[in-house]
Amino acid sequence: MQFNSNFNDIAESYLFAEVAKRAQSYGESHPDKKILRLGIGDVTLPLAPAVISAMHSAVDEMSRKQSFRGYGPYEGYDFLREKIRGYYASFGVDAGMDEIFVSDGAKSDLGNILDIFSPGGVALIPDPVYPVYVDTNLMAGRKTVFAAADRGNGFLPLPDNSVNADIIYICSPNNPTGAVYDFGGLKSWVDYANSRGAVILFDAAYECFVHGNLPRSIYQIEGARTCAIEFCSFSKIAGFTGTRCGYTVIPRELVRGGLSANKLWLRRQSTKFNGVSYVVQRGAEAVFSPEGMSQIKQNLKVYENNAKLISDCLDGLGIYYTGGKNSPYVWLECPGERDSWRFFDKLLEEAQVVGTPGAGFGKNGEGYFRLTAFGSPEVTAEAVERIKKLF
Ligand code: PLP
Repeated sequence: MQFNSNFNDIAESYLFAEVAKRAQSYGESHPDKKILRLGIGDVTLPLAPAVISAMHSAVDEMSRKQSFRGYGPYEGYDFLREKIRGYYASFGVDAGMDEIFVSDGAKSDLGNILDIFSPGGVALIPDPVYPVYVDTNLMAGRKTVFAAADRGNGFLPLPDNSVNADIIYICSPNNPTGAVYDFGGLKSWVDYANSRGAVILFDAAYECFVHGNLPRSIYQIEGARTCAIEFCSFSKIAGFTGTRCGYTVIPRELVRGGLSANKLWLRRQSTKFNGVSYVVQRGAEAVFSPEGMSQIKQNLKVYENNAKLISDCLDGLGIYYTGGKNSPYVWLECPGERDSWRFFDKLLEEAQVVGTPGAGFGKNGEGYFRLTAFGSPEVTAEAVERIKKLF
């Protein structure tokens, strides 16, 4: 028996390892210098007290015979899906209970969803990009083409009718660029997908950072229910990166060749997935309680203030960037430098600030650099002061 040789087509994932290696080696040779890390995409604030207390109660329930729970529903407990439904309703989206599937996070679902598509076809993926979209399609042996995101389109590519695509990835607010589509931009993608029977995989992992008149869900766009699947996560909204919980929405109207994507996904999940733990789902439910919401909003405010500090600094220096508003990521053009790894070294050596070189996110990331707002306010403020002095 042979193994899947498609894995040979996947580029080595060295970006964060290389970032860590260079920072560590600099730290070892300069023990007197304090390194400030603005490179991570992971959250740093703890779970909200309401979430912790709900999880404690759920653990206690599991300790008693009368309230013990074994296997749960494949698609998640009703108590959590009802709350997710209510959350969608708060921004005008009507998601049916049977359209919401709870999972252990957006990354798993983004990879696993490929099980329900027929082999072959073309996946259209933005560049620069969250690497999971590319690698999962390469593993499945699917052809990938790229939609160039660049300064010319504000890192928000629009459909090109001459490009053939069967699966289309959209991430808004985007990782790594922080760019957010407006209603018109998403409507163009929905029309393009519907006109050719393509399916949009919409990654809404950062929707909680969106404010004002911008879409948080693809289903705020007319026509999306016949062409889009949406992935969301408790990771960024509520600090669940280590706790693991997310959800995927698949409308009943998403049907191709007589097959319902919703039914296929339920079949897929009931075959290969046994649900998210009861304790974690009770914790996720508490995110939507009035107390939980107010607590997570305080945490999000900390990250949003950090993002503002960084973007105000770049505004003051006249450096082009996207994100920072409606996003925890700030994506800046490397000043005076086209090579993003050289810029990484300069920032590390001259300001002891660590970010992520854009080249690691795709060809179009070259010349750009990602800073994140997930650090502490103190570290962010100090990093910003150092960057100001450098330019
Ligand atoms: N989608 C994007 C764009 C992300 O940046 C991330 C994590 O950083 C994820 C999905 C993964 O989310 P989860 O923690 O729910 O797997």
